[in-house]
Amino acid sequence: KNKIIAIDGYSSCGKSTLAKALAERLHYVYIDSGAMYRAVTLYFLRNNISIMDVEAVNRALENIHIDFHNDAGKTYIFLNSEDVSEEIRQMYVSDYVSEVSAVKAVRSAMVSQQQKLGQCRNIVMDGRDIGTTVFPDADLKVFMTADPKVRAERRYLELKNKGETTTLEEVFENLAHRDYIDTTREESPLIRAEDAIVLDNSDLNEAQQLQFVLDRL
Ligand code: C5P
Repeated sequence: KNKIIAIDGYSSCGKSTLAKALAERLHYVYIDSGAMYRAVTLYFLRNNISIMDVEAVNRALENIHIDFHNDAGKTYIFLNSEDVSEEIRQMYVSDYVSEVSAVKAVRSAMVSQQQKLGQCRNIVMDGRDIGTTVFPDADLKVFMTADPKVRAERRYLELKNKGETTTLEEVFENLAHRDYIDTTREESPLIRAEDAIVLDNSDLNEAQQLQFVLDRL
């Protein structure tokens, strides 16, 4: 049977950095479930789809096709054949993604696509509900946390290096806002799966985090 590693946790805890490192070490495929919700959000923003309009949401979901491509160790996400890897990271997408992700129809469409991606191959998938909803039988579940200030600082530096004009306060607010919606929404809220191991990485470097997980495989 193929192996599945689920990595969940709060926003900007370093889930994707760890997931990528694990995938590389183990020769698994890395899948960023958050990027899928971001791509849907981008589509909704571009096409003025109101999340209150059930019919429009359903129609939009039928017209959204998401693909991942791996090239030279990097992962790219395509929305209807357009590479949106950069655009989905921008602040205006981050500001709205949690609202879109709380919509039931959006979640069920994404969850079934994620489950298909995990068929027949070894994967590391990161997100908010991977160990609880998408793959409740995952072979290993990790739940990541980190000090909110540490998270905001890391994310702020990342965005600044990419040339985004934002402030540390704005980033801190965005993370707090997303964590609030993600943990309080009705449909598969962000919560630690009972059998997930907790990894607080406030004071661990990337190599230490990787080792922490490898030791538990
Ligand atoms: O992982 P990332 O921070 O890019 O995810 C963006 C947003 O997508 C999260 O804040 C959350 O609202 C949503 N998300 C989700 N379920 C997942 C992955 C992401 O609701 N499995």
